[in-house]
Amino acid sequence: MKKTELTTAEFPLFKISSDPMIVLDKKGKILRVNDSALALIGHKKEFFEGKLFMQIKLLTPQSKVLAVKNFAKRMLGREIEPYEVQMYHEKGYLIDVEINAAPILDGGKIIGDLVSIRDISKRKISENELHSTLAMLDAIYQNVPVGITLIDDEGNIVKANDYFKNIVGDTELEERGLLDLPMVSGSLLEATFEDLIKNHQSFSLYDSEYSTKKEVVRFANFIGEPLKNMNGDGKDFSLVLIEDTTDLHDAHESQLQREKEIQKLKDQFVFVAAHELKTPVTAIKWGVEMLSDSGKDVPDVLRQNMEEVLENITENNNRLSKLVSELLDVARMDYGTFKIEPKNFNLSEVVEKSISTIKPLSLASGIEISFRAEDVFVAYADPERVEGVMVNLLSNAIKYNVEGGRISVDILKKGEMLEVAVEDTGIGLSKDDIEKLFERFYRVERKEVSEKAGSGLGLYIVKQIVEKMDGEITVESKGRDKGSIFRFTIPQEK
Ligand code: ADP
Repeated sequence: MKKTELTTAEFPLFKISSDPMIVLDKKGKILRVNDSALALIGHKKEFFEGKLFMQIKLLTPQSKVLAVKNFAKRMLGREIEPYEVQMYHEKGYLIDVEINAAPILDGGKIIGDLVSIRDISKRKISENELHSTLAMLDAIYQNVPVGITLIDDEGNIVKANDYFKNIVGDTELEERGLLDLPMVSGSLLEATFEDLIKNHQSFSLYDSEYSTKKEVVRFANFIGEPLKNMNGDGKDFSLVLIEDTTDLHDAHESQLQREKEIQKLKDQFVFVAAHELKTPVTAIKWGVEMLSDSGKDVPDVLRQNMEEVLENITENNNRLSKLVSELLDVARMDYGTFKIEPKNFNLSEVVEKSISTIKPLSLASGIEISFRAEDVFVAYADPERVEGVMVNLLSNAIKYNVEGGRISVDILKKGEMLEVAVEDTGIGLSKDDIEKLFERFYRVERKEVSEKAGSGLGLYIVKQIVEKMDGEITVESKGRDKGSIFRFTIPQEK
């Protein structure tokens, strides 16, 4: 008689295996369930044994379809690959399992099915976690407002996000060479990108210019980072990040433009104000001269008072007049209308002229000026401006000198240039004073300076003029009370 019932005795493996297992007969009736299977799924043996597996609430509907299909195939003698299904635990929750089954043969005939069940819930959970982590990273990668691209060691694009593609102006970038992109090829970026790919040289370029596919100039921050041996397989990659900063750049530019306009208005204001002041200053000067002339007819008692008042007005008006003309010069310089008209001229003559202009002042202060021009020096500069520079330096050398002091002026050749040196025996300068001396409105803080009239604009103007004539101005002093030497250069004749 043929055996109709299978017993576990015939399956030693079934007994000893710690894997959950179920034995079915040819029709799908559950014959045996081992303890491991009961531990995994729950329920008592009675729940399974003697029932058709498709009639008990063991598998989800979808899984049941798959299981029935695979069971039928096996019963027809076909081999099947392990497959994944979801099973209900006795308590109602789902377990992910992998089914691996093989037919039970008797004399070459299929009489049943041995089903092994592997719990893959943990693997599924970590797969799901990995999946959601990857999905999250992908969402960040796609939505961050920065172009991101990964380049292999040959410089080909492995992956690029939409922002990057948008910047490049192309959607098909994978496998294309980064250096061949129109945005990179032949541009200022090319060498830097090449250095990253070939020499693993990281870089950061801020607010750097680039051209779009349509040749529109835009600005961006570029960051390149080598990723050496990224996957642990010895292969090198590079990461390039691009952040378009055009809007920021434009905002900054228009801010600068606005600031320039405001500055221009300010310069214009100083210019107009100083210009308007010139007229009353001149009027006061004439008025004072007229009053001085008519002073002869005034009775003696009043005359002395009047002379004192007029002298005082004259002195203050002179100060005001000097300040107005200095402010005008500075405003013209800022405004860009300060003119320099260079030509060849006899420098020795101009220096002599400036000394004679200042003579009354030096005589009044008892200061001697010596000048030796052993040669004729012809310079190429603006003679009127040079005279102005000289008068300024000489009047300072008188103003900041000591009683019975001296001034010596010298001209000498310095390569392609001529150098004029004005040396005095005056109050001298400290190192700190020298650093700030040519700044606008700078005056040294000491009694000897504050008791003299001055605005602190003279040397600023002098420096600007000398530099506009392609020269340089320097000052040297051995320290306070040790005198000073101002030297400026201008080009020789052309
Ligand atoms: P100011 O109108 O005050 O004379 P300047 O610009 O001509 O303005 O000079 C700036 C400051 O430099 C002066 O206030 C003074 O302190 C200092 N200074 C200029 N020339 C000399 C000099 N020959 N010796 C010492 N100090 C000087």
